Amino acid sequence: MPETIAPPPDLYSASPDGIPKLHGGRCRACGYVFFPPQSYGCEICGASGDQLQPLALKGEGMLKSFATVHLHSGKGIEAPFTVGVILLDDGPAVRALLVQKTDAGLKIGDRMHAVIVLAGADEGSAGANELRFARRESEK
Ligand SMILES: [Zn+2]
Repeated sequence: MPETIAPPPDLYSASPDGIPKLHGGRCRACGYVFFPPQSYGCEICGASGDQLQPLALKGEGMLKSFATVHLHSGKGIEAPFTVGVILLDDGPAVRALLVQKTDAGLKIGDRMHAVIVLAGADEGSAGANELRFARRESEK
């Protein structure tokens, strides 16, 4: 098979403290922090090249919005599932699947943290690790 498609970027990794790190970047010229990592240029000041540095972002933040999908015709995930936008403490907002399938009990402002889960595992597939977000247990 010809390798014409670049591998997906390495977007996150496990961390000793149990909260996965997201691989983002920071502009050395203006300090802007972004996710996912990119090398095209800073969205704020346009700096490029070695002005854009990798930066590990802590997978913690605040739930900014969420929506539950009840009907879904695509493969790979079964409805219902809930997608959230999490405003990371380090700056960027990320859109991600939440661990909980429905929005029961969720509210804007909930503290969230990243987790790595094994998803898609069934009889025909070993599944793969995916990054999701979960609500902090201590919060209601
Ligand atoms: Zn910049």
